[in-house]
Amino acid sequence: MKIGVLTSGGDAPGMNAAIRAVVRAGISSGHEIYGIKDGYQGLVQDQMDLLDSHSVSGMLSLGGTFLGTARSQEFLQEEVRLKAVENLKKREIDALIVIGGDGTYRGAMELSKLGIKTIGLPGTIDNDIAGTDYTIGFYTAVETIVDAIDKLRDTSTSHQRCSIVEVMGRYSGDLALFAGICGGAEFIITPENPMDKKAIIKKLKDHKAQGRRHAIIVITEKIIDVHAFAKEISEESGFSSRATVLGYIQRGGSPCPEDRILGSRMGSYAIDLLNQDIYGVCVGVRDSRMVHLPFANVVGQKKPKNELYSLVTRVSS
Ligand code: ATP
Repeated sequence: MKIGVLTSGGDAPGMNAAIRAVVRAGISSGHEIYGIKDGYQGLVQDQMDLLDSHSVSGMLSLGGTFLGTARSQEFLQEEVRLKAVENLKKREIDALIVIGGDGTYRGAMELSKLGIKTIGLPGTIDNDIAGTDYTIGFYTAVETIVDAIDKLRDTSTSHQRCSIVEVMGRYSGDLALFAGICGGAEFIITPENPMDKKAIIKKLKDHKAQGRRHAIIVITEKIIDVHAFAKEISEESGFSSRATVLGYIQRGGSPCPEDRILGSRMGSYAIDLLNQDIYGVCVGVRDSRMVHLPFANVVGQKKPKNELYSLVTRVSS
């Protein structure tokens, strides 16, 4: 077979490990693998190159995606997608492995309807894809956030401050949850674990009265204006407070071992599926085992609330 591979949406550490596995496992199964530049944009603009085993050497440790990624608005139009399909057909590429988030999966579903055999791999730091326990890039981002929390705790203790750390995760609070637990945050506020501002300020007052020297609040983006919240805490709790928005730092960096393994397993599994003529599905990991589900069962679905939330009430604050 001739198989295309692309990365789309936000980049995530471990995407390169997944591409490398697709290339190496694909070649060892006798396929030709084409790397498509900048996500669906490259598909439309016919930017794709045949990859050999050597072209993915040294990729495991690199963050980002060497194929490039993009958010292609024009790909939402049917006539543009038809152009992409025409480009694939012209090169006799019959299957496509896409690595990205929910939007990327939607694009793949549309291509399936136009006769392309598609497989999806979950590549996003947010861990917001249903049908998989973890997404490629999540654990590296957790590590980056924990590192930031540890550093902020040092300075918060010195200055007797309350630090608010805003992290990514539009549709899932898993980044805040995991990093908050690892970083010993006093409060973890996420879409699944909403905040009660008054209760937090009251607890902070109690902490201050007990002589505690610092507090850390980890919060998912887009819940509240964290700088205004820091001001309120400073005025009402007795702690001076500062907010830090980690932003795109969370996306970068060399992938941690978990993401290198997950990317490698998922990339290789995608080739196994195509070898068995299975497509129209996305790959996941459940209880450490590789699984696959039809796109329709995953796209737009919310993940169940993570069981780690039971720890928050027991070990935080
Ligand atoms: P992240 O979770 O990092 O944001 P994502 O894959 O969800 O990743 P999006 O920007 O939502 O990122 O989607 C990536 C691309 O997928 C879009 O730029 C667009 O080209 C394509 N896409 C998204 N939704 C659709 C759709 N309904 N139909 C066709 N293509 C789509």
